[in-house]
Amino acid sequence: MSTCGASMEPAGYFQRPNGEYVVVHHCMGCDEERFNRIAADDDFDLVLALPEQPPRTRREVKAGRAEEYLAAGQEQWESEAEEVG
Ligand SMILES: [Zn+2]
Repeated sequence: MSTCGASMEPAGYFQRPNGEYVVVHHCMGCDEERFNRIAADDDFDLVLALPEQPPRTRREVKAGRAEEYLAAGQEQWESEAEEVG
């Protein structure tokens, strides 16, 4: 579940340079993205059925989001309690 309490839906996946697969979950409530490494009990076929996305890191997303918020005149954005990777 997301920080805002809305449901998350899988939006795609990408593969990290180290070969690790990551599922991108998108929040229906606030457009937050969350990256989850594929666990052993995940259905790998379902993951690969999602659209493949360009690899990126939480840090890159934060940087982009910071620019967006600064452009919108806001001073800070919600920080993530949970880091993946
Ligand atoms: Zn949310």
